Amino acid sequence: MIRMIILDNGHGSNTPGKRSPIWSDGAYLQEWRYARMVVQGISQGLARLGLPHCVLVPEENDIALSERCRRANRIASRNDASQTLLISVHLNAARENNTASGWEVHTYTGRSRSDEYAAVFWECAKEVIGDRFPIRGDHSDGDPDWDSNFAILRETVCPAILTENLFMNNEKDCRFLMSDEGLQSIIDIHLKAIQRICCM
Ligand SMILES: [Zn+2]
Repeated sequence: MIRMIILDNGHGSNTPGKRSPIWSDGAYLQEWRYARMVVQGISQGLARLGLPHCVLVPEENDIALSERCRRANRIASRNDASQTLLISVHLNAARENNTASGWEVHTYTGRSRSDEYAAVFWECAKEVIGDRFPIRGDHSDGDPDWDSNFAILRETVCPAILTENLFMNNEKDCRFLMSDEGLQSIIDIHLKAIQRICCM
């Protein structure tokens, strides 16, 4: 049973790179700013639902991963780590091209409760945006999440997942993210999944 949600908004204003291309009309998107908007929306939704949660990085600047993990582990140990779920919110970027599109959820390598929670997120993403974007899965190990050796997943003592919410260097993905409907959809995926997980 999950009783505490930790929301991590990833990078800070001074993280290098981490933004979309500047599109023909001058619009572009910064990952750190967008992740904060998503986390704020999730936080407001959880407050309305009365679900205990906290925002790991209230600052705008980049907080080192080691410090983020320290903060998360302090919160987890105060609340019983097995009943705490950390969610790190990111936007994806393809290294080589701008044709990659869609949504992903990552967990640390191997099997853990995080895989079950990630599967709920994956289902919710399918329900909310699956008719418009690929919900990208790695099914080679029998579940839909991607196994990744990310510090925020590896160094935290509680179940932890990381969402890659569409590709900011794909114009279709990015335009959707920048729309009110897109932002709300990304928030809704997380809220839906958290509510479902808190009932498990
Ligand atoms: Zn990121």
